[in-house]
Amino acid sequence: MLEVKIITAYPNIFPGSLGCSVVGNALEEKKWSLDIINLHNFGYDERKSIDDEPFGGGPGMIIRPDVVEKALLSLESLTQIKRKLIYLTPSGNPLKQSNLSEFCQFDQLIILCGRFEGVDQRAINALNFSEISIGDYVLAGGEIAAQVLVEGCIRLLPGVLGQPESLLEESFSNKLLEYPQYTRPKVWKDAQNNSHEVPKVLLSGHHEQIKQWRANRSIEKTKLIRPDLLEKKKKEQK
Ligand code: SAH
Repeated sequence: MLEVKIITAYPNIFPGSLGCSVVGNALEEKKWSLDIINLHNFGYDERKSIDDEPFGGGPGMIIRPDVVEKALLSLESLTQIKRKLIYLTPSGNPLKQSNLSEFCQFDQLIILCGRFEGVDQRAINALNFSEISIGDYVLAGGEIAAQVLVEGCIRLLPGVLGQPESLLEESFSNKLLEYPQYTRPKVWKDAQNNSHEVPKVLLSGHHEQIKQWRANRSIEKTKLIRPDLLEKKKKEQK
């Protein structure tokens, strides 16, 4: 069972999305476990402070390394357990679907959420946290980023999705974006009375043609929105 341990100054942000839908059901069914560790329990003074001013000046506050270490040491560490430590930060390696497939193979994920201006770099380096970013933008804290990462991992665990085939054809699984999808009604009339039809081929029952159509749309969309993915795929095929 994958054990997820989240170290945060804002424990009440959890479980958030991790308690809902397929991921929440899997938590209830004990397909994975979630522990939230409150950084304030390891504060360095009577006020349970966790942060201090940056050396070298500048705005904001930095989470102290000794506080992070104490929080981490409070977790039992068994040598036979495959454990991965992750610090979420906009200056980390960009998170990819392939990372999620890798992370969900561990026995334990320990995820550190930053706040304020971030975490003292010595803690990240000395305690062996891998730095991961969920995108080129800055959030106020790592909690939502942690939910993004964990939700992405949990849905990959065996038995979590009702139809595991959905993992095979989705965006990034074959290094492309997914083709567009449609459902009922066959003809949708919008509020302005315009009719919108479903592409005919999808109603044809012709599996080969549908497959081809989807492959083409997938390439078309990737070319338009993420040409970098196509370039990468081409290079890898050489
Ligand atoms: N001073 C930092 C930003 C701190 S934002 C910088 O310029 O890089 C505060 C916290 O929010 C971070 O410590 C991190 O845990 C979280 N965070 C913000 N944006 C994030 C992102 N894109 N990916 C992952 N975590 C992020």
